[in-house]
Amino acid sequence: MAEYPKDGQKITVQDGKMVVPDNPILGYVEGDGIGPDITRACLRVWDAAVKKAYNGTRKVHWMELFMGEKAAEKFGGNYFPPETLELMKEVVVSIKGPLTTPVGGGFRSLNVALRQDLDLYACVRPVRYYEGVPSPLKRPEEIDVIIFRENTEDVYAGIEYQSGTAEAEKLDVFLRTELKAKGFFEKSGLGIKPISAFGSKRLVRKAIQYAIEHKRESVTIVHKGNIMKFTEGAFRNWAYEVAREEFAEHIITEEELYSKYNGKQPEGKIVIKDRIADIMFQLMLLRPSEFDVIATMNLNGDFLSDAIAAEVGGVGIAPGANIGDNIAVFEATHGTAPKYANQDKVNPGSLLFSGVDMLEYLGWKEAAALIVAAYPEVLKRKFVTYDFARQMDGATEVSTSRFADEIIKQIESMGDATEVQARRTKAIQQERKQREDLRVAKPMEQMVASGRTPHTVGDIMAMSLVTVRPNVTVEEAMHLMRKNRISSLIVQPDDDSNDWGIMTQTDVLVKIIHANRSPAAVKVGQIATKPVRAVPSDTSLHDCVTSMTEGNIRRVVVEKNGVPIGIVSDTDVFRTVEEFGWLPAE
Ligand code: NAP
Repeated sequence: MAEYPKDGQKITVQDGKMVVPDNPILGYVEGDGIGPDITRACLRVWDAAVKKAYNGTRKVHWMELFMGEKAAEKFGGNYFPPETLELMKEVVVSIKGPLTTPVGGGFRSLNVALRQDLDLYACVRPVRYYEGVPSPLKRPEEIDVIIFRENTEDVYAGIEYQSGTAEAEKLDVFLRTELKAKGFFEKSGLGIKPISAFGSKRLVRKAIQYAIEHKRESVTIVHKGNIMKFTEGAFRNWAYEVAREEFAEHIITEEELYSKYNGKQPEGKIVIKDRIADIMFQLMLLRPSEFDVIATMNLNGDFLSDAIAAEVGGVGIAPGANIGDNIAVFEATHGTAPKYANQDKVNPGSLLFSGVDMLEYLGWKEAAALIVAAYPEVLKRKFVTYDFARQMDGATEVSTSRFADEIIKQIESMGDATEVQARRTKAIQQERKQREDLRVAKPMEQMVASGRTPHTVGDIMAMSLVTVRPNVTVEEAMHLMRKNRISSLIVQPDDDSNDWGIMTQTDVLVKIIHANRSPAAVKVGQIATKPVRAVPSDTSLHDCVTSMTEGNIRRVVVEKNGVPIGIVSDTDVFRTVEEFGWLPAE
């Protein structure tokens, strides 16, 4: 019953890539409750932006698709008719308002059904600040992230059994007797958390592809792998695997950023890093500018996207999309707010910005940029819907449609939106540079402050090595150590061997003072320990300490290609474990 528009062409997919004509047919679902109000308003704004940006050479041909209550009326009670599913596949890109989930048994949530039936495995939620939007943060402008939340697995897979049922009892017995599982009370409700390599990798792949295409700075993998090793920990490992195996020329890891590049991010490379989920919430409040693209599992992503959205204006303006392999359904992230239905009252921001992301997804960046630039201008004049008006002094409360009129007026009066975009790009670059300078100047301090948990010697090593030739006198070497406030020196190989050595304060005490020799008469090469005990930078802290214990030494040298690049002492390991804790391997 949905009808194709008279004009327009369908988007096609060739060799896995979308081909977007200048007159694409896009689907839209009006939605329930406040859906029709916001959809009507947004369609006008998107069309105005496209018209202004391309002078009429590009135009969207909209096709209404039916889901929710409107579908139920037309399709004899069917809230999600099969034809809508098919048409969403055919038109490739659609946008939808919020939908009511019918109450009563036997209904899947329409949104869940949509994700599952179209295999839209990535829930993509960009969150950024727009000037003038009320925010509880001191510097909300630092927030500009895009969250890729896995949409199909995790505890949302629906494999759970109610306490006291035969199924829960059966699973309980199986876990205790067959798998010898412990640590849960009898008659618990039980749920299963499936996390697969397939599901994790396709999500992370999408996040990295996005980061590359949009020249973003980093991709952060958020997980709770320190506790749930084989689900969340595995997600982290698979994420790094996909990054290394499929995007080697585009990425570096955060470990390499410090160990190989001394904190300087090479041009054009994206840093892959990971953070523990609970710390991430804190970091998004305290150091949000360090995060960019975020990739995480279903439950973490659910919490995190709402929490970050709340930092910059709440769900009223947070956009979202569910994306699979090419097929994408953009959507308002809030619900149907039934008490405001048909009052022309609510904020169209969430759907509006979902449309902005949709335009970017099509590659129509200029039209998207116009809306992004127009929005804060209208806010500056304090023309806002009721939800912002109640948080702003001196605001003029306007209706949904009036707000859209103001945005359109602004778009039509604007010059080149690329200028606004260029200013923003410049500000982001400056801010990145400042952070880089700090990383270079104070690597350990910055690493700790940025919430990274050190895992390897490369993470905690001191890079300020002082090396000397073996024929330098011990006296000279001692002056050098005092001047640099260090307790050991690295000794270069002599003519006879390629072995590097190390001379420590203890060597001086034992082999010079205790042995009653003159430091001016003894050469460093004569008392240095050779060859130095060295480990590669990816050595775990556990293996590093094993090496120290076996060699009865207090420090190891970190090497790369046979050349020392850093040094780790027992004090460094002690401090790290004191600060970050220690999870013994099982
Ligand atoms: P909701 O519809 O999101 O509304 C909760 C509150 O959020 C509203 O009362 C309003 O706050 C505020 N709000 C939501 N959208 C707004 C907008 N555009 N502008 C300004 N304020 C906005 O959540 P709900 O009441 O829990 O859910 C209602 C229905 O929506 C349910 O049937 C649920 O299943 C469905 N739902 C659908 C989706 C979806 O389709 N994606 C998502 C979530 C929920 P104030 O009262 O403070 O003004």
